[in-house]
Amino acid sequence: MWFDTHCHLDSENAEGQAEAIISRAEQAGVGYFTCIGVGGLPSMRQAVELAARHPAVWASVGVHPHDAASLDAALEAELLELIEKPRVVALGEVGLDYHYDHSPRAVQREVFARMIAIARERRKPIIVHTRSAPAETLELLESESARDVGGIIHCFSEDRAFASKALDLGFDLSFSGIVTFKSAQAVQDVAAWAPADRVLVETDSPYLAPVPLRGRRCEPAYLVHTAAHVARLRGTEVSDLCSQTTRNAARRFGLALED
Ligand SMILES: [Zn+2]
Ligand SMILES: [Zn+2]
Repeated sequence: MWFDTHCHLDSENAEGQAEAIISRAEQAGVGYFTCIGVGGLPSMRQAVELAARHPAVWASVGVHPHDAASLDAALEAELLELIEKPRVVALGEVGLDYHYDHSPRAVQREVFARMIAIARERRKPIIVHTRSAPAETLELLESESARDVGGIIHCFSEDRAFASKALDLGFDLSFSGIVTFKSAQAVQDVAAWAPADRVLVETDSPYLAPVPLRGRRCEPAYLVHTAAHVARLRGTEVSDLCSQTTRNAARRFGLALED
């Protein structure tokens, strides 16, 4: 079974759709999910609640760079409480997004640093979102000692130089539907080259549906298309990539999965 290391099922959970989405995924061979709760308190709570209810789902909570400006004492207090709940296996997604700039850059940096500090204090791996800010993302991971806990560069969309540095800092590389896009040659190059024990796969659903389903509302069942593409790039059997990436995810999140 594949492990979707990054999906946003919180809103589907709120609408009662999560169970149907999970069962379609299981039929497609995707059996494990890390549900990312970001975007404010309701989504954090939804993610944690879904993980508590469903044995194949784990949760991650954090303050997305888009929402950095909304972090206040109350939100931080709740985050600190939620991160201690059972089945919350990571802190994230957190990072820098200089493409959309939904929060001022200085605030994004400050909040990212604070999130790294919380992850270190609570011993949770960090799920990093980075867009149009490669140098500053790496700088902050290094200067704030993110290496102590390591984590995942989610939706990997940088180049090999970035990947090498991230691997050195203890971060695994998670590939989304982007790796199937024709234009994403640098990402494909990294997917082909990355060490086998540091590769993960994800959908980032409901965003970024892979080719040949590009443009649709993405869901974890579509992971198999992304994964098949990564296997092709690496010249690996799909079944080998499946067991390897699921093992990698279990190790990263500290889970003992029966295989
Ligand atoms: Zn993201
Ligand atoms: Zn995401």
